[in-house]
Amino acid sequence: MSKDTDSFETLDPQDWEQSKALMHQMVEDAFDYVKNIRERKIWQEMPDDVLKTFESQIPQQPSDAESVYQDLQKNVLPYPMGNVHPRFWAWYMGNGTISGVMGDFWASIINPNLGGGNHAGHKVEEQVVNWIKDIVEFPKSSSGLLVSGGSMANYAALAVARNVKAGYDIRTEGLRENNLVFYASTEVHSCNTKAVELLGLGTKGLKKIAINKDYTINIDALKKQITEDKANGLQPICVIATSGTVNTGAIDDLNAIADICEKENLWFHVDGAIGAIAMLSDTLKPQLKGIERADSVALDLHKWLHMPFEAGCVIIKDNESHKKTFSLIPEYLEKNTRGLASGENWFSEYGLQLSRRFRALKIWMSLKEHGSQRFGRMITRNVEQAYYLGDLVKNHKDLELLAPIGMDIACFRYNPRGKTLEELNAINKEIKLQLEEQAIALPGYTTLDGAYCIRCAISSHRVTNEDFDVLVENVLRLGNELG
Ligand SMILES: *Cc1c(COP(=O)(O)O)cnc(C)c1O
Repeated sequence: MSKDTDSFETLDPQDWEQSKALMHQMVEDAFDYVKNIRERKIWQEMPDDVLKTFESQIPQQPSDAESVYQDLQKNVLPYPMGNVHPRFWAWYMGNGTISGVMGDFWASIINPNLGGGNHAGHKVEEQVVNWIKDIVEFPKSSSGLLVSGGSMANYAALAVARNVKAGYDIRTEGLRENNLVFYASTEVHSCNTKAVELLGLGTKGLKKIAINKDYTINIDALKKQITEDKANGLQPICVIATSGTVNTGAIDDLNAIADICEKENLWFHVDGAIGAIAMLSDTLKPQLKGIERADSVALDLHKWLHMPFEAGCVIIKDNESHKKTFSLIPEYLEKNTRGLASGENWFSEYGLQLSRRFRALKIWMSLKEHGSQRFGRMITRNVEQAYYLGDLVKNHKDLELLAPIGMDIACFRYNPRGKTLEELNAINKEIKLQLEEQAIALPGYTTLDGAYCIRCAISSHRVTNEDFDVLVENVLRLGNELG
């Protein structure tokens, strides 16, 4: 047993000074980790001896915190996902901020439950949500909730949309008949499909509409589908617009969709997981015109706002409908008029989660430290970098841009003329993997019209133009070697 079995056992440090010294060391190491990020590999495969360590059984006895930290240093820290590195452009990720780290640290220290209650944590989240309403130009009377990310934000918004537009008390009755229909383009993010399935409508409850050449939803096709569905006895309820598609960064015509929704009495939802926060960028804001007309917006703060994971947000214009979808107050959650259990609008009444972490604090601290304009400038710079990369691609005869640059996403491939589609796909797939394995850069990939492409989602506040020079140089080198 531990050295002081006669003392009162808790989970606090047995030696506060020693524990504090270890934490100080971690702070030293963590700052070096971020500061020297370029000196380490973006990503590397975990060797077998490291993998083996993750098979050990649950520790039943205490060990000292120093050795736990050594374990972390040896087996976890060298094998990151890589998204903190400036040359990581896969999927769509943010980098984190030091102020975000500080916020997460204090959130864990004070460790409040943001389900509800009259305490400062609630006020911080309320304020952060109010700031986000301002960013997307929604009225103060709207409601909002911080959630884990875009998936949960879209889910919450689509649930409200279904309940409001069904035309009967679907929450009590369940589905009367399965004829409700959501609409989105074929480029819609898969989390919306999952949401519609979970809302009881099945995959068929989300109709995917054809896109234009620039990967935005085809408005005429959308109108036609709605008319046809109504004639066939279906009940259209909602259009999901995407501002910043995950493949190419395309922004649907928000005003055109708003007009259709007004005319047809449909809920207008914007999946702005990538792009809604780009309202902070002077360059992109004009392209997002119409977002303020939406009934709901889902956005991610762990993408282009660089908050440490997880941080997403849903904003709903009609507070009452939002609350009606999720509020359920059993006797053990009834509110008092005074004390901790008082206060209006508990966040647990606006979503599925009862216990909720204090994710607002990192956002609050980061926005206070950096100010919204600096975040906007970081977004704008990424857009310029996407065009910089696009120019490098356009200016080389063996490279080909495969889609218009949307926001900060560029899709291209190595293409020395005279190869078949299959050959090109195989070469580009191999280029992408070797870039990754040689720890040169970590771009993403997607397939557009059957063509495999190297996809760079440039959401890094650390990346410089030279990083794209290095990328292009190496794509050409590898292409030459493979071609
Ligand atoms: C990333 C993304 C999502 C999902 O968000 P998560 O934060 O990963 O849950 C939804 N929609 C779009 C357009 C996205 O890019």
